[in-house]
Amino acid sequence: MKEYKVVVLGSGGVGKSALTLRYVQGLFLTRYNPTVEDFYRHHTRLDEEEVTVEILDTAGTEQYSSMHQLYIDHGQAFVLVYAIDNKQSFRDVEPLLNQILDMKKTRNYPIIVVGNKSDLEDLREVDREQAERTTKDLWLVPHIQTSAKEDYNVTEMFRRVLRMINSY
Ligand code: GDP
Ligand code: MG
Repeated sequence: MKEYKVVVLGSGGVGKSALTLRYVQGLFLTRYNPTVEDFYRHHTRLDEEEVTVEILDTAGTEQYSSMHQLYIDHGQAFVLVYAIDNKQSFRDVEPLLNQILDMKKTRNYPIIVVGNKSDLEDLREVDREQAERTTKDLWLVPHIQTSAKEDYNVTEMFRRVLRMINSY
């Protein structure tokens, strides 16, 4: 069976665990435990094929730590998450992206930038068009908005990532 290794990265509290749990278990947890870091195996069909998706839901944000390097080494694709109600979380994406590209020694890798918490439109701090332009035109990676809470675009986002691995 084909196996895909996906790593979910981003600042604390943006919804990495919520997105992962929504995709793997169909659940939404409202309580927040920033220290949880876990590994999930998920079986699904992708384009007529049975596949296994291994997701590493990371925690802790010390960049350039040795753990961080291990995650990046391990990953075949990266989901870089920010929350639309947290401007700093969007600023935190670029150093992560650069670290991945540096370590993979390429300018092009299966990476997607995810603006999560799209249900919090009233609290939005990150301009949508600007985020999309920066991501697509400057960083050359796709951008998608999701809500783990409302189950909006979550499966679509992960499927898109898996297809990126296939076409890489
Ligand atoms: P992580 O630190 O990136 O793993 O963040 P979590 O997944 O633990 O989520 C942090 C907090 O944000 C939790 O209280 C979640 O319930 C909440 N959260 C996560 N995703 C969403 C979302 O799409 N919408 C809203 N409104 N809250 C969310
Ligand atoms: Mg978490």
